[in-house]
Amino acid sequence: MADTPEQATAPTRRRTGRHRGEGQWAKGHFTPLNANEQTKKDDDGLNVRTRIETIYAHRGFASIDGADLRGRMRWWGLYTQRRPGIDGGKTAVLEPEELDDEYFMLRVRVDGGRLTTEQLRVIGEISQEFARGTADITDRQNIQYHWIRIEDMPEIWRRLEGVGLSTTEACGDTPRVILGSPVAGIAADEIIDGTPAVDEVHRRVVGNPAYSNLPRKFKSAISGSPVLDVAHEINDIAFVGVHHPELGPGFDVWVGGGLSTNPKIGVRLGAWTPLEEVADVFEGVVSIFRDYGYRRLRNRARIKFLVADWGPEKFRRVLEDEYLGRKLADGPAPDAPVERWRDHVGVHRQKDGRFYVGFAPRVGRVDGATLTKIADLAEAHGSARVRTTVEQKMIILDVPEEQVRALTDELAALDLTTRPSSFRRGTMACTGIEFCKLAIVETKGRGQSLIEEMERRLPGFAEPITININGCPNSCARIQVADIGLKGQLVLDDEGNQVEGYQVHLGGSLGLDPGFGRKVRGLKVTADGLADYVERVLRAFEEQRTEGERFSQW
Ligand code: SF4
Repeated sequence: MADTPEQATAPTRRRTGRHRGEGQWAKGHFTPLNANEQTKKDDDGLNVRTRIETIYAHRGFASIDGADLRGRMRWWGLYTQRRPGIDGGKTAVLEPEELDDEYFMLRVRVDGGRLTTEQLRVIGEISQEFARGTADITDRQNIQYHWIRIEDMPEIWRRLEGVGLSTTEACGDTPRVILGSPVAGIAADEIIDGTPAVDEVHRRVVGNPAYSNLPRKFKSAISGSPVLDVAHEINDIAFVGVHHPELGPGFDVWVGGGLSTNPKIGVRLGAWTPLEEVADVFEGVVSIFRDYGYRRLRNRARIKFLVADWGPEKFRRVLEDEYLGRKLADGPAPDAPVERWRDHVGVHRQKDGRFYVGFAPRVGRVDGATLTKIADLAEAHGSARVRTTVEQKMIILDVPEEQVRALTDELAALDLTTRPSSFRRGTMACTGIEFCKLAIVETKGRGQSLIEEMERRLPGFAEPITININGCPNSCARIQVADIGLKGQLVLDDEGNQVEGYQVHLGGSLGLDPGFGRKVRGLKVTADGLADYVERVLRAFEEQRTEGERFSQW
């Protein structure tokens, strides 16, 4: 018999039988232990699509069932957005329905960050017709719209799916977008092209009811780039390109990374996987998560908690013995990347002799008209392929050498420079209070003004630096792994008034020496004082650093 929630939270019970009350299906605990689990048990989130198309789109917002509105809609990339004008101080005290606007955020998944110019043009058109021009690039390579009406969803899906795009499981307790190296298949320094694995995992997993009820979201990444360009350290599962001394190029398997509360760097299983077996291992790991993952408390449900409790040896043993039915080969760890930037900004020669051109919107903010112009520009200069990066940047591929100069000039004319300052290159921001119901403070606008201000104050600053801005304690913009991470909250100004501000985390990083920033106790800055603070820190760094010392080592 399943434990009751009361039993599950009893301290003695947790000491003697830690997992009995965690709602793990593999242990026979199928009774939902919280409202989210109940909603998922009542009906698969994937099924809401039919109701949207046959009922809600015709009868309007008011007709939407509550469990669909705040639960299952996510399985199709839809979240209600924040009602305009509600300040951050109300976020925690209002009921969800008081925060809900009648418009939606819609996330389009872009697996591997791969887009054709035809797809980009459709994304731009939808933005202009149905989303008031909005179209942000997220730090998971997706495109995110705002101001979407439920009435328009059937037409939006018709257009997206007509060019091979989808919103399936872009949110929800599902296998989310599969991150991929944005220069997969073209970069001259590539260890292995992970594109076939991204496609095969997508074919097997996305929209498959076998994996549409996971304990929580499941984030994944596959990259064969030596610059480690998909933030693999903080994904639930990641495949990182390595050269095996005997077996050749393949992937090193990582599990259990994730940020938000209780951040964890993923751990290596010590296993090497060839390209054609990536999807098998992916399915094994996502099945472990489905079957053994904790379903009692939402904030203990990500796979990182299971991995932390089991350790990598047990996790690998269960994967091999119960799910794969074979042993995996031992393999090496990836080499440390030679450089700090992982965004592919700038002009780079491809392995076929043409060039890829990476450029930097400000904090991922573009719009439908700009995306359409980017598609036009790419095609005018001989390209039909565009990529998005996990740093909220974009890349145009396949540019002949003689077209590079004209393309970079025309991008610059759209304020999409290929030679950004360190501040523009390294600053990212989450959605924030403009649209996010969980937000406490503004982020996108503040990120953009911080970039401008720092470019003015420190024009010669050339060090790679990351400044990540979140609107709340969640970590959509990866604050814990930034040089300067800013967690939005209300703080007191000099007069004792509650104002928007940030808790500061310093010295986090990914790549060369991954680790979390130090939460500087008591160090909170007001939004108005942010530029002064960042300037002070960076001037001190410039003065005090030793030769070659990075910010995270300082
Ligand atoms: Fe919203 Fe918070 Fe995520 Fe920002 S970090 S997008 S405010 S949930």
